[in-house]
Amino acid sequence: MLSGSSLGVVAPLASAKRSSPVWHGGSLALSRPAASALLKRAEAITSSRSGPSEGLSLRTNGGGGVGGIAGRVLWPASLAVAAGASRRCRRWMCRRQPRARPTVVHAAPPGTPGADAPQVDEVDVAVVGAGPAGTLLAYLLAEKHGKSVCLIDRNAGKPWPNNYGVWQEEWDALEAKLQLGLLDCLGTQWKVTDCYFGGSWEMPAEECLRVDRAYARVDRSKLKNKLQSPRVRILEESLNIEALATNVYAGDSLRHDAKGSTLALSGDRYLRAKMVVDATGSESRITRRLPAAGEPPAPKPGFQIAYGFECLVDGSTHYALDAMTLFDYRTDHLSFDPEWEARAERDPTFMYAMPLGPASDGSGAQRIFFEETSLVARPGVSFEECKKRCFARLKHLGVDVRPGTVTEEEFCYIPMGGPLPEPGQRVVAFGGAAVMVHPSTGYQLCRMMAAASEVAGALGSALGSADFTPDAAAAAAYTAIWSPSNQAQRDFAVFGGEFLMTLDVAGLRGWFDGFFRLPEPLWAGFLAGWPSLPGNDNHESWLARITFGVQLLTRIPWQVALRLVGGIAQYTITYGIPLVRSVTPLLGEPPEYSWAAPVPAEEVGDPVAKREARAMMAAGRDAKAS
Ligand SMILES: Cc1cc2nc3c(=O)[nH]c(=O)nc-3n(C[C@H](O)[C@H](O)[C@H](O)COP(=O)(O)OP(=O)(O)OC[C@H]3O[C@@H](n4cnc5c(N)ncnc54)[C@H](O)[C@@H]3O)c2cc1C
Repeated sequence: MLSGSSLGVVAPLASAKRSSPVWHGGSLALSRPAASALLKRAEAITSSRSGPSEGLSLRTNGGGGVGGIAGRVLWPASLAVAAGASRRCRRWMCRRQPRARPTVVHAAPPGTPGADAPQVDEVDVAVVGAGPAGTLLAYLLAEKHGKSVCLIDRNAGKPWPNNYGVWQEEWDALEAKLQLGLLDCLGTQWKVTDCYFGGSWEMPAEECLRVDRAYARVDRSKLKNKLQSPRVRILEESLNIEALATNVYAGDSLRHDAKGSTLALSGDRYLRAKMVVDATGSESRITRRLPAAGEPPAPKPGFQIAYGFECLVDGSTHYALDAMTLFDYRTDHLSFDPEWEARAERDPTFMYAMPLGPASDGSGAQRIFFEETSLVARPGVSFEECKKRCFARLKHLGVDVRPGTVTEEEFCYIPMGGPLPEPGQRVVAFGGAAVMVHPSTGYQLCRMMAAASEVAGALGSALGSADFTPDAAAAAAYTAIWSPSNQAQRDFAVFGGEFLMTLDVAGLRGWFDGFFRLPEPLWAGFLAGWPSLPGNDNHESWLARITFGVQLLTRIPWQVALRLVGGIAQYTITYGIPLVRSVTPLLGEPPEYSWAAPVPAEEVGDPVAKREARAMMAAGRDAKAS
């Protein structure tokens, strides 16, 4: 996070090192290796038990009784038992009552009196990361599925930093699906959306394409408040979990066993959870992203980079105040410097402008959020370049930013595309961590929200089932996110993102002008790109996608269409079948996130041959004996 700014970058967390190697407290003084040995012993006890949570949870289910986390030390129940935790301590845990509002839990520093008392707790689901994805999933699991949930994030008490814009129709569809009162969580709304694609293909630079579709800014603090549940415990800390291999994490920060997982918290504390959700954002260290076995390597991620800020504008705003300006791809503001203009033509950026209404000081000024954005590039365009282009554009357009009024400075960094989460992982990734960002637009919020009820449903029903198996539950949750059909749709959009990276500004103007002249359900569905969002049915089958592609080809300049055809060939040579598979029935479907129960020992190999051998050996023994 840059001072005074929001930087949507999830940095690796270096600060969460466990600081105290020695565990003091009453009769217990365990070094880390000793605690680790006890933990192993405890897990052995745990896995020998029959019921899914037997011996682990000292409270009843249903989200009420995890208060023992508050300001105290967490130990797996079985570890506390193994270590001889006092009866008094365990009774204290049982007596804790649910709180009426979210519990903010601060990690007790080592050495704090009482902080070292061994305590026991377990939740159904530990959600790591309290951005929109983690917060919504935690809410649904707790409120709609009655699960006990712990939401872990050092920043849980802070406002979400990113400025979210959404299509109103998608938001309405989400409200119809989730019934959360989401319509109260929108800030400014615009009935129409403006785009400037002029300056090429004989389109005058001033030509504005007005799209008759409403856009809105999410009021992120209202949304965050809406998704707070008194049944979700909040633990304000960062976890230092880094996947080294599939289901193997550095330094025992996370361990899986047959019944669930043990997370190492700071200060040598632990949390048991039946399931772990990784909602730590696009650059998660917890979830591995690798193609499934047999799948070709995916293209590397591209990056959306944008520099934005909110400010007061005195006088002309240039952009219509009653419209959202989604794209201004003009470059004539840089014509005074041919080198600079050439750079902007080669590595294009556009202005994204949200007029937010009159200033509250009665001066007649307007509040506007401006953001100069590189849609997708690899490597990303520099923030400095975006900032310089932004101010040059505003100056050229005669827009006067009132000095000293710049607030909400945003350094937007969104990885787009790249491989999906590797199959077989026990931790369920969600949101940015599950690579749910649209690979050719950078939109993610509505996609994640559209997926949330299915993912919560998959986890909720797995956790409620008598034969709960964490790996099967994880596979079910991943299937709810990345079904083969949804992967095929994404493969098409990944190509879209790769192709957009190859276009110069003239190509992008021609492309988007044709795109927005398609029937609205077609282009809107592409931008949504997620089942249950409006228009997505126009992209859910190979036939729908090829139909969309052909219609787009007929609307873009032939030179761009030719490059598209060349791009398809080049992409297929480089990255193999996924694109062709997404637009034909020829090559099957992408692989499923499936889970198969381990083969029982007696069924390994050729059981018939082994049984025969055993019978013959027994017969031989009998013959000798007689
Ligand atoms: C500046 C910006 C603007 C965007 N605008 C839009 C938009 O307009 N529309 C849209 O649809 N999408 C937008 N996106 C894309 C996407 O919707 C966002 O990135 C979104 O915030 C992703 O949500 P998330 O909950 O998955 O992850 P994040 O919002 O990144 O939240 C991750 C959380 O995990 C926490 N965390 C990370 N590591 C750990 C750890 N080890 N332990 C505990 N906690 C941890 C972080 O503190 C953070 O709170 C934008 C992205 C950015 C960066």
